[in-house]
Amino acid sequence: MAVLLDGKALAAGLMADLKLRADALKARGKTPGLAVILVGDDPASQVYVRNKGKACEDLGLLSETIRLPQETSQQDLETQIEQLNRDPRIDGILVQLPLPRHLDEAVALRRIAPEKDVDGFHIENAGRLFTGQSGVVACTPKGILYMLKKAQIPLAGKEAVVIGRSNIVGKPVAMLLLNENCTVTLCHSRTVDLAAHTRRADILVAAVGKPRFVTADMVKPGAAVIDVGINRVDGKVVGDVDFENVEKVAGYLSPVPGGVGKMTIGMLMENTIEAAERKAH
Ligand code: NAD
Repeated sequence: MAVLLDGKALAAGLMADLKLRADALKARGKTPGLAVILVGDDPASQVYVRNKGKACEDLGLLSETIRLPQETSQQDLETQIEQLNRDPRIDGILVQLPLPRHLDEAVALRRIAPEKDVDGFHIENAGRLFTGQSGVVACTPKGILYMLKKAQIPLAGKEAVVIGRSNIVGKPVAMLLLNENCTVTLCHSRTVDLAAHTRRADILVAAVGKPRFVTADMVKPGAAVIDVGINRVDGKVVGDVDFENVEKVAGYLSPVPGGVGKMTIGMLMENTIEAAERKAH
């Protein structure tokens, strides 16, 4: 039976460490501040934004949510971002995705000052990761690495296979694993014979968005399997991995819920506190 990678317990430990760092900043008169811009009324985004606000509250961070109407123009969105770039109380700016379809996501993200880009989606931070320079790393990929390292899973020289090539999960997690000296294969919707790749993986990351997509026959015995997927099936949240069966084959497995998702907000808090620490030095 696989060892469970307990995101809930890991996130609790991380939050306790972060509280000390936040308190140290506050003692110096610098309360870290996070601003979240939410455009429109996407129900899932509302939940995420609420959870982010709650995490800020737990750590005693300044938290500001700017709610803009669905029909907000690109110009108004960018003006709002630039205002936050100049605001000295704000260390981190996050534009909640997805944006309504009439808005240009890439252009909006580029408006965020890179040092305040706590999601790590700005092209400068993505480029820093790509070229092995320090920068802000996207929260979900950073959380995945944190989980692997906390479980002391060996990475150097290992075969890592990532399913999914999005800019927010697949590509950055592949790059982080490469930086850890894994041999990385990045699979996607056009990959031929996916299982032939996944069966070689010592570390398998599933970021597809399809319920129970990774089945036991696709997993190498003893592999560390990280399930990033968040899918709703009959009102229940399930991952991309067929948990019941993969659990019998894998060496390590992150559950959904209670796995990677728990780490993501913790990493957002860490990125915000790091941004405040950089400014305070
Ligand atoms: P996305 O839709 O942008 O990307 C999905 C990827 O899966 C694509 O690159 C595509 O090529 C690949 N794919 C689709 N069908 C495939 C197939 N048949 N074979 C191989 N690859 C295939 O999704 P995303 O934003 O990267 O998110 C992926 C999943 O992770 C979603 O369920 C999302 O909700 C979840 N997610 C979770 C967190 C978290 O905090 N836990 C954060 C971000 C995303």
